[in-house]
Amino acid sequence: MPQDSTTARPVIAVAGLGIESSTFSPARTEAPAFHPSRGAEVLGRYPFLAPGEELREAADWHGALVGKSLPGGTVTAAAWEELTGELLERLAALPPLDGLWYDIHGAMTVEGVDDAEAVLLERIRAIVGPDVLISTSMDLHGNVSRELAHRSDLITCYRMAPHEDHMETKERAVRNLVDLLASGGPRPVKAWIPVPVLLAGEQTSTRIEPAKSVYAAVAEVEATSGVLDAAVWVGYAWADEPRNRAVVVVTGTDTTAVTAGAERLARGFWDARHDFDFVAPTGTFDGLLDEALAAAPEQRPYFISDTGDNPTAGGAGDVTWGLTRLLERPEFQKDDGPTVLYASVPGPAAVRTAVEAGVGATVTVTAGAEVDDRHAGPVTLTGVVHAIRHGDRDARTEVVVRVGSVYAILTELRKPYHHEHDFTDLDLTPRSADIVIVKIGYLEPELFDMSAAWKMALTPGGVDQELVRLGHHRIHRPMFPFDRDMADPDLTARVVPASDRPLTGEDE
Ligand SMILES: [Zn+2]
Repeated sequence: MPQDSTTARPVIAVAGLGIESSTFSPARTEAPAFHPSRGAEVLGRYPFLAPGEELREAADWHGALVGKSLPGGTVTAAAWEELTGELLERLAALPPLDGLWYDIHGAMTVEGVDDAEAVLLERIRAIVGPDVLISTSMDLHGNVSRELAHRSDLITCYRMAPHEDHMETKERAVRNLVDLLASGGPRPVKAWIPVPVLLAGEQTSTRIEPAKSVYAAVAEVEATSGVLDAAVWVGYAWADEPRNRAVVVVTGTDTTAVTAGAERLARGFWDARHDFDFVAPTGTFDGLLDEALAAAPEQRPYFISDTGDNPTAGGAGDVTWGLTRLLERPEFQKDDGPTVLYASVPGPAAVRTAVEAGVGATVTVTAGAEVDDRHAGPVTLTGVVHAIRHGDRDARTEVVVRVGSVYAILTELRKPYHHEHDFTDLDLTPRSADIVIVKIGYLEPELFDMSAAWKMALTPGGVDQELVRLGHHRIHRPMFPFDRDMADPDLTARVVPASDRPLTGEDE
């Protein structure tokens, strides 16, 4: 490949796979779910790498392969081999690299592979060589093993949940890599501290305390002289590997500043552990329906999160438990009952039948429980086809079937409902509904702004919010909240060796 002779821009590759996959869901994730971008199209994923942007012009960029999947079940061994095989092959075909940006989520569980992101990075290292500087960017619900911290030269994650700063975080990871390459400076010092706490994402919204203050301290530590970046990972609660727990990593040039910053953040997280609570009041599904029915007009639309099968956390998405209970309630069986929108249950056969019948037709269809039937069987609905929509990226085809005053959204494939247009595209008006039920944890910003009231139903499914009833066996113990009264852990900073030095000692 001809080099630009007027500049000595560093050569940087972009690669990574992102998913959070629940080991407590019977669902499996296959390769197409990652919608991989390859080669030059990888760069198109990131606005800050658009032609003309400062960072784009600062280096010679080469996309290898980047894939992102909706959360789901464990990635199959075949999908892992296929995706990592192609990623590594594409990396091997690139010119010699100075840097690599490893764009991952960090909570990928794979059949037969522990600590998948660290294993993949080890294979990447074997191809690109030990001299390449690697910057890893992650979701704060990812997991950082000592090995992953070791093989990365820079490592960071989001500071907001919901992740409104996701692109900003990626840009920071890239900017720090470009700056490090430009400076020619030594590899950063990395202070890593595991914090023996495992929390549901829905307990750690940075909109509210204590996560708000825990995360506010991240920017303060980052601003310290000698520190390049600071990050706190909540970790991923719905997988069962030794790496699943909270972690702090601070990187920089000054060992004293880096270790002091990491210890401050780790202590802040640990001290707050008893104060993490669900981001919204919780209740049982039927209890919350009772409350919503009794709610005053100004409390409507009343939103209920059906949390146990939240596809954006890794639920199968096809648990029918909530919709089944809803349809059994006498209050919603008449057409003029309180309007309820329910999102959603996948049912390809039901969708086909509804599409063939057309809008306005009365149909009897059966949906759901093809993947996760542990809590309720397939649900059968007889109602009027209210809307049909084709061409959705996730759902492919969506239909709405109205049963009494319930508008049930059925999809060909599972889809999260996060935006107002997800509903209005289906001729539904959530703002004027009485009750809106969504398979979600914390509400995404648009739904949050729209809700007059909101509570979370602790429902069964692959991402049950009651962690202690899931049955973790492989996580480190003691761990809060599994061992509520455990003694204070060792929260001193462990300086992880630079990526070109061997990693010695045991993980802890
Ligand atoms: Zn996340």
